Amino acid sequence: MEDVDCVVVGAGVVGLAVARALAQAGREVIVLEAAEAIGTETSSRNSEVIHAGIYYAQGSLIARSCVAGKWMLYDYCRERGIPHANCGKLIVATDEEEAGRLLGIQARAAANGVPDLRLLTREEARAMEPALVCTAALHSPSTGIIDSHAYMLSLQGDAENAGAAFAFHAPVLSGRATGRGVEIEVGGAEPVRLACRTLVNSAGLHAPRLARSIEGMPAEHVPGAWYAKGNYFTLTGRSPFSRLIYPVPVPGGLGTHLTIDLGGQARFGPDVEWIDAISYEVDPRRGESFYAAIRRWWPGLKDGQLAPGYAGIRPKTVPPGAPAQDFVVQGPREHGVAGLVHLFGIESPGLTASLALAAHVAEVVAAG
Ligand SMILES: Cc1cc2nc3c(=O)[nH]c(=O)nc-3n(C[C@H](O)[C@H](O)[C@H](O)COP(=O)(O)OP(=O)(O)OC[C@H]3O[C@@H](n4cnc5c(N)ncnc54)[C@H](O)[C@@H]3O)c2cc1C
Repeated sequence: MEDVDCVVVGAGVVGLAVARALAQAGREVIVLEAAEAIGTETSSRNSEVIHAGIYYAQGSLIARSCVAGKWMLYDYCRERGIPHANCGKLIVATDEEEAGRLLGIQARAAANGVPDLRLLTREEARAMEPALVCTAALHSPSTGIIDSHAYMLSLQGDAENAGAAFAFHAPVLSGRATGRGVEIEVGGAEPVRLACRTLVNSAGLHAPRLARSIEGMPAEHVPGAWYAKGNYFTLTGRSPFSRLIYPVPVPGGLGTHLTIDLGGQARFGPDVEWIDAISYEVDPRRGESFYAAIRRWWPGLKDGQLAPGYAGIRPKTVPPGAPAQDFVVQGPREHGVAGLVHLFGIESPGLTASLALAAHVAEVVAAG
């Protein structure tokens, strides 16, 4: 059995940001990743949007870490030359009922510390995006897009420069709380047992399962795991929009929206498909419902212009129909196990929030 200071399980964007924060705080850090490389799961299957922090419940960890994380991320991108664009986003209303809801969205954003949303008339919105058809819109100037892989590579580099070590093909199989930390069993290429003073479970979709496999971790603190797949359809041809376009949200989702990547490629989605087992295949038939939804605000979309793209899976801690979940960062104060910190339900906007979440986890770790 080898003794180590901190182990971070998972080299997704959040695990990488946590490893960087802990290493820069002077801790000895080992990152254990089951896959062959960084960011192969949810962190490479998302919209790469830097979210403004508009819709979340006021005071929630998700709202706080999104807004704080957004500014930290823009600063970080500028300092490190990470490709990104502060392109902005429009939330578009297509009838009077939806237009009436824009003010509520603006007020909620302001309560979350996003006071810069501006209400636009149909003409103002069209002046910004001539292909758009709407009755009114909200402009979010702080929304942007990022090259998430360049960002993750930079986080890994920072962590390594601060002394962190990475092991790939290194799945954590189980663990046991000892009162002084957690002993873990690592499988894969070079099986090993480690005694860690601190274990951070940042295993994304697999975090609840890993938590349950740790002897001494009280089961009542481990949330359930539900999977809400999000399918994307890509637009063939050039994007007629230079900003992100979102409809007014529908209950339970953000509606079929358009995001663009830094290469100018447009994609629509993600939709919401509840699944029992992890699978990333996109069923082409799901594209049918996209056409009607998109044509409400972009009638110029032609038949056959959408192609199945890719999918990502939201790690949900609550079942379908339940009220919106918050990010969960659980330390010894919550579950009583010394040296153990879990991150559960880190769905969108986890990429945007990653630096703020990492700072929060570092505080939880330091508090012991
Ligand atoms: C469809 C979709 C769209 C999204 N769009 C956006 C967006 O536009 N903007 C935004 O801010 N956020 C977005 N998000 C959210 C964002 O992608 C996630 O919050 C973020 O990627 C989560 O990172 P993570 O490190 O927690 O998880 P992951 O990226 O899933 O990483 C977890 C890692 O843990 C590893 N692992 C698992 N179990 C073990 C084990 N036992 N041992 C060792 N390693 C293990 C996995 O291999 C994986 O690499 C989106 C999410 C989805 C699903």
